[in-house]
Amino acid sequence: MTEPHQAVESLGDGIYRIDTKMHRPGLDACYLLGGDQHWALVDTGPATCSATVLAGLEAVGVAPEALRLICPTHVHLDHAGGVGSLLQHLPNAQVLAHERALGHLVDPSRLNAGARAVYGEEELLRLFGYLEPVPVERIRAVTDGEIVHLDKRELKFIDSPGHARHHYCVWDASSRGFFSGDAFGLSYREFDNANGAFILPTTTPVQFDPQGWHRTLDRMLEHEPEQVYLTHFGRVRQIPALAANLRQGIDAYSEIARRHAGDGRARHANLVQVLTEDALRRLAVHGCKLPEARSRELLAMDIELNAQGLGVWLDRQTRH
Ligand SMILES: [Zn+2]
Repeated sequence: MTEPHQAVESLGDGIYRIDTKMHRPGLDACYLLGGDQHWALVDTGPATCSATVLAGLEAVGVAPEALRLICPTHVHLDHAGGVGSLLQHLPNAQVLAHERALGHLVDPSRLNAGARAVYGEEELLRLFGYLEPVPVERIRAVTDGEIVHLDKRELKFIDSPGHARHHYCVWDASSRGFFSGDAFGLSYREFDNANGAFILPTTTPVQFDPQGWHRTLDRMLEHEPEQVYLTHFGRVRQIPALAANLRQGIDAYSEIARRHAGDGRARHANLVQVLTEDALRRLAVHGCKLPEARSRELLAMDIELNAQGLGVWLDRQTRH
């Protein structure tokens, strides 16, 4: 078995998982893929982790000039926050963005202001840093189904709503794998056991869309992927079984949210509590032997964000 938290893990087929070390090891990844003088980076981690990502390139032996493409799966800071700062060190890299993400990357002022409102200036700088603007001549939008060549490798970009509407996944035919950003949920390697991996939805504010997510999973599975490369965290296999678990999780989340829609001021606290109990129950079914306190610790941040996102989803429904 490979060590889960080594800084750089070789996954075969010219693919390397780099740990951005955001917040803690084993939480946030980006992927380097390619060969020879043609490499791509899928997701970047936040701006605070750009030096770690560049060290990852160096560890694999990829010269900055050989990095051709930067592919942020969506514009959440843990996936795209480093795009602007990395570009300053990667002279030949072009950014391929979802059409709904492009404007935010060129002018990140709204994104940065939104993050500052959530975290406060000091926390934002400590946790993520600001997204630096991407020069307009170094970025272009990719369309749904577009195939981009990276030397001999073909990468296909698939529009992937569900977690966020500005989200794409990248299909890599050579490894029969998807770089999924957050569209295939999250799965921490600490929960791996003989039953395989444990998977949860990630419903971070503000665009959770359960129906859209099911359609995204349909489209992903049509490709019969043998592996999925998650940003949170690492490669998973046994994809049909994990997809079924993720679908159950998405449906359970919608149901839980609806059940607590009328909780008023207590709604958020109640959602956090119920989502935590739901995760612990699923972990028990999974045969997880970690102490409960450790499981709670590993999931606390995601469950807080998931509860916030479900709250936003409920509010959006009542407004229409
Ligand atoms: Zn996200």
